[in-house]
Amino acid sequence: MSKVKRIGIVNQKGGVGKTTTAVNLSAYLAKAGQKVLLVDLDPQVNATSGVGQAVQEENIYTVLVGSGEAQSAVVNIAKGLDLLPSSPDLVGASAELIENPTRLAEVLRPLEPAYDLILLDAPPSLGPITLNVLSASEGLIVPVQAEYYALEGIAGLMETIDQVRASLNPALRLLGVLITMYDPRTLLSQQVESNIRLNLGDKVFWTVIPRNVRLAEAPSHGQDIGQYAPTSSGAHAYRRLAEEVMRRVQEA
Ligand code: ADP
Ligand code: MG
Repeated sequence: MSKVKRIGIVNQKGGVGKTTTAVNLSAYLAKAGQKVLLVDLDPQVNATSGVGQAVQEENIYTVLVGSGEAQSAVVNIAKGLDLLPSSPDLVGASAELIENPTRLAEVLRPLEPAYDLILLDAPPSLGPITLNVLSASEGLIVPVQAEYYALEGIAGLMETIDQVRASLNPALRLLGVLITMYDPRTLLSQQVESNIRLNLGDKVFWTVIPRNVRLAEAPSHGQDIGQYAPTSSGAHAYRRLAEEVMRRVQEA
């Protein structure tokens, strides 16, 4: 049994690899025998379409605003992998979510017994949806792009995490910072990695996700990287990340 079940994938910056990580990590965790629920919390529905699903009538929006039941909105994607899909309507849930920052935690509770791990793909903001993700998570994965300003904004995110831990969710902790879109051929990527490890130490996952065009292509086929390009560098990296996440979850 995992000590950490609910894992939020957060960074208020867009385009850092949150959704790519949510989709591919979920897939490899399921392949490793975990029962996984992926929850898409971005109105841009990238995780939903990334696993090949169209927007459903019942989705995380209808569940959060109370017009639908969480269980009936869940769709099966693969062996061991379910999705709670998003909807563009989710932008309209802000009022409810501002009023009740623990609403997501509440609606997920009845689903928890059926899963080993629940991955929450957050939108690129520190708004009410992300606050709900922070309140509902026990562990956080923070993807950062291997670029010069990688750590900019991370300080603010860490402060928000501390505030949420002190108020809404004492169980919240950082599972790890994940370096994404790493280009081993550039000195810049190497310098950025050293700098991040110097600053954040063992909070940084050993696994680094390389820049790999296969990872960018897979979602347009509605496939995870293990289906689309199983021998690619991106596939190897996300398989290793799944192993590292399973270890960290046990040690947490
Ligand atoms: P976020 O969810 O943080 O906004 P995404 O996961 O959607 O970020 O990634 C942003 C874009 O970069 C997408 O087009 C995605 O396919 C691409 N991408 C993500 N990770 C990689 C990678 N390691 N190599 C190449 N492209 C990537
Ligand atoms: Mg995203």
